[in-house]
Amino acid sequence: MSQTLKPLLPGSTLGVLGGGQLGRMWAHVAQRMGYNTAVLDPDAQSPAGLVSHHHIHTDYLDAAGLKQLATVCQAVTTEFENVPADALAQLAATLPVSPAVSAVAVAQDRAREKAHFVTCGVPVAPHAVIDTAEQLAAVNDHLLPGILKTSRMGYDGKGQLRVATRDELNAGWVKLGSVPCVLEKMLPLASECSVIVARGRDGAMVNLPVQRNLHRDGILAVTEVFTGNVPEALANQAITAAKAVAQELSYAGVLCVEFFVLADNSLVVNEIAPRPHNSGHYSQDACDVSQFELQVRTMADLPLTQPRLHSPAIMLNLLGDLWFKPSESEKSGSEPNSLQTEPAWQKVLALPGTHLHLYGKVEARVGRKMGHLNITAATPEAARAVALQAAAILGIAPF
Ligand code: ATP
Ligand code: MG
Repeated sequence: MSQTLKPLLPGSTLGVLGGGQLGRMWAHVAQRMGYNTAVLDPDAQSPAGLVSHHHIHTDYLDAAGLKQLATVCQAVTTEFENVPADALAQLAATLPVSPAVSAVAVAQDRAREKAHFVTCGVPVAPHAVIDTAEQLAAVNDHLLPGILKTSRMGYDGKGQLRVATRDELNAGWVKLGSVPCVLEKMLPLASECSVIVARGRDGAMVNLPVQRNLHRDGILAVTEVFTGNVPEALANQAITAAKAVAQELSYAGVLCVEFFVLADNSLVVNEIAPRPHNSGHYSQDACDVSQFELQVRTMADLPLTQPRLHSPAIMLNLLGDLWFKPSESEKSGSEPNSLQTEPAWQKVLALPGTHLHLYGKVEARVGRKMGHLNITAATPEAARAVALQAAAILGIAPF
């Protein structure tokens, strides 16, 4: 079946809905491979728009903007899951869109996402769908304490509340606007991991190695990837589950599947992202094919080859907080730093195997993803030693 797809060769123009950092890093790779890129994002200063051949800054649902994108491109993808489904559907009428709107729609809705996991036979956290006051009243007590999550539009821990009691649950639902939610039982997490798979329109599928992730305040902070980062049996289970999730969606494109690892080493799927993912950024420097190249290849119907991890890697997320923290040498007795100051990149880059990625965002804000630092080394221990030194320089808490 793969032979019937005619690849879009370099020289073609590939487009993306959304101009954030994921779009920017995708554009860099597409351009390296000889493609032109086009970005549709309402923000004139969007990180991807700034580096693309074409930047259409209209609203995602603007008919003229979408038409322009469809005219300049030969294929389109998305870089954020909350892109209006209608925008993807309009584009799909005239050119290949990956992932398909049907798959993005599942990722956009936690209730549908959970139902999909159940269909795939992949374990999920005990949960209840709460669309109405009646469903709220009917919630089983065994789900408490739990996390109440809006079904739609959540990211980086936003749209979530921890609720310990029935009263907190009731108040929490109102606080979230009485919108459709999913209540998940709070699970005792031993660790978290994720898997990125890429699936071509012809059904060919490859995966990146399992990523071990550390979250802080609901935001990814550290990703560690090396052989043995999670027990082998668990890693195989996660890869098999991620592939099943993609397969069952007839998915085309790059998909990230996030998992919880419980104390008894059992695996529970958390959620999916229909795009490259923050936890896959290490692949830029530690794999022979990065998640962004996989995205380009799936869009262009190019062959997918199994990526190889050539170096143990650690990724540190660089949040805007770091721009407001006194560095190691300035800590002694100084006032909390309220002015934006550039972190000491020169010190970090003096460490071996550090790869700095900044997204070109002018304004640093607390919690805002400004960039990431990949650390590669010959051994996991060496990568960790450098990562801890870099963290200390930047003001990231040790892990
Ligand atoms: P993102 O899209 O940025 O990954 P999100 O806002 O969609 O994040 P989740 O992935 O649902 O949020 O949750 C964020 C983090 O909160 C998880 O990575 C995990 O650390 C914690 N968490 C979420 N659900 C549970 C749960 N049921 N039990 C324990 N911890 C949880
Ligand atoms: Mg998540």
